[in-house]
Amino acid sequence: MKYSKIIEDIYKQVLSEDNLGTAPTYIPELAQVDPNKFGVYLYSLNKQSYGVGDCEERFSSQSIAKVLSLCLAYSIIGDKLWKRVDVEPSGTSFNSLVQLEADNGIPRNPLINAGAIVVCDILLSILEDAEADFLNFVRELANDDSINYSVLVAESEKSVGYRNFALCYYIKSLGNIENEPIEVLNFYFKMCSLELSCKSLAYIFSFLANDGIRMHDRVQILTETCTKRVNALMQTCGFYDESGEFAFKVGLPGKSGVGGGIVALLPNHYSIAVWSPKLNEKGNSYRGMKFLEEFTAQTHSSIF
Ligand code: GLU
Repeated sequence: MKYSKIIEDIYKQVLSEDNLGTAPTYIPELAQVDPNKFGVYLYSLNKQSYGVGDCEERFSSQSIAKVLSLCLAYSIIGDKLWKRVDVEPSGTSFNSLVQLEADNGIPRNPLINAGAIVVCDILLSILEDAEADFLNFVRELANDDSINYSVLVAESEKSVGYRNFALCYYIKSLGNIENEPIEVLNFYFKMCSLELSCKSLAYIFSFLANDGIRMHDRVQILTETCTKRVNALMQTCGFYDESGEFAFKVGLPGKSGVGGGIVALLPNHYSIAVWSPKLNEKGNSYRGMKFLEEFTAQTHSSIF
């Protein structure tokens, strides 16, 4: 099947329709981004890659980066990770505090803020220099040394990140944070500020569509079993409390971020990234969701 024609047609169709989302404003720096940006890139394991629109422009990956920090921690400590963070969908918003007390400070999953903060704490404990080592991990996945954090976005989020402060200190009080909360938060905000284009995102995530093996040098990043589990987590927890809807309409494991990016993948076939900054009421890219729903329908490609 020729993906390029389908991608181009759906892109034009979605572009011609109203963009009903709203740009996020709670991170001041993200409110500066042009809300009309729209890019798509498909990386196909059999080399039919194709991009359209603003697919080479970098944007704030935000929560998408949580999958990558999870992969790094999981590749180092393996199943011990699950003593610190659970694997259940939360059913509440990404920055919810309510479940933590009942769950004794064990976040529901590593893709909500509480869980990603615990993963950052784990990385700080096991790595020499978590910020540099994580960045290096992503650069190697992307095969691109120019990838970087945005200090502006990280500082901007830190200046108003009261809820993440609350989450981190609360988990600390419940005994599930080892390091100083401010160090954990500094790393968390940096990690979320990672800037990636659709093209690099699709490529970075291709190892998760390829049984954990990086495409350009065949290095096994995660075992096949761990890869399956990360994909399962994206499937069940990757879209805040719209994860069920994404499974229902799109049918692929994936992850979104408040920067308007969505990455999704079909194991053994492709990974695809979409970027459009306006978000729907659940915090997922309005056009991104529309595009992917149409794409999996027209290509008959879904894991179900
Ligand atoms: N850094 C953002 C926050 O913690 C990430 C949110 C997201 O993309 O879901 O609020």
